[in-house]
Amino acid sequence: MPDCIFCSIINGSVASDKVYEDEFVCAFRDIAPKAPVHILIVPKMHLRDVSAVNAENSQFVAKCFEAAAKIAESEKVTGGYRIISNNGALAGQTVFHLHFHLLAGKKMSDL
Ligand code: AMP
Repeated sequence: MPDCIFCSIINGSVASDKVYEDEFVCAFRDIAPKAPVHILIVPKMHLRDVSAVNAENSQFVAKCFEAAAKIAESEKVTGGYRIISNNGALAGQTVFHLHFHLLAGKKMSDL
């Protein structure tokens, strides 16, 4: 998708600190981390947010969670981590390409 920063990271035209990649998923460190470990897990298919997920593309979401489990192992945070996804501007979404924040490395506050 033109003008999508995460599509540009996925296709390599914008640099990132990648921690994981496979056929379906790209994961990289957040440029403005909110926790000692803050990784963005992004499906390679451009989906705006959760409302764009359907039976045809939901495998990309499943692959994001498979990746999350692997990343938690490689980052050594299996003792506890939080995964969140902001959907829509009202929820705080600023990049309109579906993604999951994996946060760890400190005690998380209550929601
Ligand atoms: P959200 O606000 O939930 O849409 O999350 C978007 C996240 O993307 C924010 O935490 C930003 O810090 C992060 N972000 C934006 N641009 C980049 C980038 N070029 N590389 C890494 N993270 C980014």
